[in-house]
Amino acid sequence: MILKTRNENTYLLSAIDKPILFMPPEFAESLSNDKNSYYKKKRLFLEEHGFLFGSKEYETKTTFQTSISKELVKSFFSNCVTIAFEVTEDCNLHCDYCIYGENYKNRGGRASKNMDFLDAQATIDFVLNLKKTEKNVLNTDIYINFYGGEPLLNIKLIKNIVDYCEQIKQIRHNLNFIFSITTNGLLIDKYIDFLERFDFQILISLDGNRKNNQYRKFKDQTESFDFLIKNIKFVQKNHLAFFKKNIRFNTVLHDKNSYSEILSFFKENNLKKPGYTLVNSNINNDKFRPKARLSPEEILQQNGESAFVEIGTAYTQFFDLSFNHFSTYRSLTSKKTLNREFPTGTCLPATKKIFITAQGKIFPCETIEHTYPLGSVENGIVNISFEYIAQLYSDLFKKINQQCAVCDLREFCAECVFLDLIGDPEKLRCSKRKKLHEGIEEKLSFLEKNPEINNKIWKKYYYV
Ligand code: SF4
Ligand code: SF4
Repeated sequence: MILKTRNENTYLLSAIDKPILFMPPEFAESLSNDKNSYYKKKRLFLEEHGFLFGSKEYETKTTFQTSISKELVKSFFSNCVTIAFEVTEDCNLHCDYCIYGENYKNRGGRASKNMDFLDAQATIDFVLNLKKTEKNVLNTDIYINFYGGEPLLNIKLIKNIVDYCEQIKQIRHNLNFIFSITTNGLLIDKYIDFLERFDFQILISLDGNRKNNQYRKFKDQTESFDFLIKNIKFVQKNHLAFFKKNIRFNTVLHDKNSYSEILSFFKENNLKKPGYTLVNSNINNDKFRPKARLSPEEILQQNGESAFVEIGTAYTQFFDLSFNHFSTYRSLTSKKTLNREFPTGTCLPATKKIFITAQGKIFPCETIEHTYPLGSVENGIVNISFEYIAQLYSDLFKKINQQCAVCDLREFCAECVFLDLIGDPEKLRCSKRKKLHEGIEEKLSFLEKNPEINNKIWKKYYYV
C-alpha cells in the first residue's frame, strides 16, 4: 500500500509484516515504470521477499479459507479458556454512553434480569466436559469473568459460581480458576473481603476527576463521583497490597475529559494509569461519536506535549506496525509469509471467550451487537450446535471474502464482522479500509511535522 503524507512524501506500508518504509520519489515513480534500473532492482527485491503487493508469493495466497467445519468449532470450544457471565442486567448507574442505554440499538431488550445459577453451572459443565475430550490440547487456567449491568448487584450468583468452581477443583485437581470482574465500584467496599479472598482481578470504570466523570450518573441523574472515590479510597487504605496488585481502571474518552486531566487525576490520587476506551462506534448519538476520535493535532493541543508522549497508546500501537521495527535481525531478513487464514480480524468462535447473557444467550464476546447468538442456555440445558456456528461463520466469511482478498490491510486487519461490518448482513460491506489508510497517513503527517515528539515516543517506548 502506498501512503502519501500532507507533505507529499511517499511511504510503503507492506502488506506483510507491516513495516512502513520511506520511499524516495524516484522509488515511488518506479512502481509504475521501470525507467530507473536501481529502483527497479530494489522493487524486484521487495516483491520477491513479500513486501510488495505484487509479489508472487503474496498473490498465490490471496484466497482466504472461508469454510469452517463443525469439528473445528468443536475443538475451539474444547479449548475455550474464558467464560464470561453477564450475571445481571440490572445496574445502579445510568451512564449516558452505556451500550445498553437508549443510545444504542440491537442490544436485546433489557429487563433487569438476573442470570440463573443453573444456567451458569450448565455452561461451566458444558465447557469442562468438552475439555475431557481428545480435542482439548490446552491445559491452561480457566478464566471466569463477571459482567453486568453492575455484577456486584448479583453477588449471590457470583458467590455461587465461585463456590461451584471451588468444588470442581476438589475433584479435578489440575484445573485452576482465575476470577475477574468489571464493575462501577459503587459496591466494592461492601464485598472487598470476598473479592480479595478469591484473588479477583478487578477493573473499575472511572473517567477521571469530578468534571470528567459527569456522564456516569445515578438513575435520578445525580453524579456518582463522590461515592466511587470514597470507595476507592477505602479499599486503597484498608487493602493496600490487594489494591496495588489487583485493581485496574478503565477510562472512557469523551468530550468531558482529556488525557492530561485524566493523567494528573490518577497521579494525584496514587492510582495506576488507566486503560482507555473510546465510546463504542455504533452509538446513535453524535454527541459522543466525533469527539471520541480526535486528530493527533487536537490531542496535542488539548493536552500538551508531555501528556501526548505519556499516553503513547495510540502511537505505540502505530509504531509497532511501522518504521522498520523488527524484533531481531533475523525477522528483518527472513522471507515474509502470510499468516492469516480467514478474512477480516474476527476471532474464531470461542477462541477468545464465550459470553453468556443474563437471558441465556451465548455470544463470542460482550462487545458485539446481539444479532447472532451462537447458542443459548435455558433451564440448565446448553443448546449449542457446532454445525450451525460453523455455517454462520462460513456464510459471513464468504460474503466478505471478495473484499478482503484484494485488500492491502488484510494481513493485519482488526475488523470484526459482528462489530464493524455487519450492517446489512446480506450486503456485508467494509468501509473501514479507506479510513484506516487515512488514519495512518494522518499520523505519519503529524510525526513528520513534529519530529521531536517522534523522537520522544521512540525513546520512551522502544529504546532500552
Ligand atoms: S469484537 Fe469481534 S473479534 Fe473482537 S472478541 Fe468480539 S467477536 Fe471477537
Ligand atoms: S479492512 Fe475491510 S476489506 Fe480489508 S481485510 Fe479488513 S475487513 Fe477485509
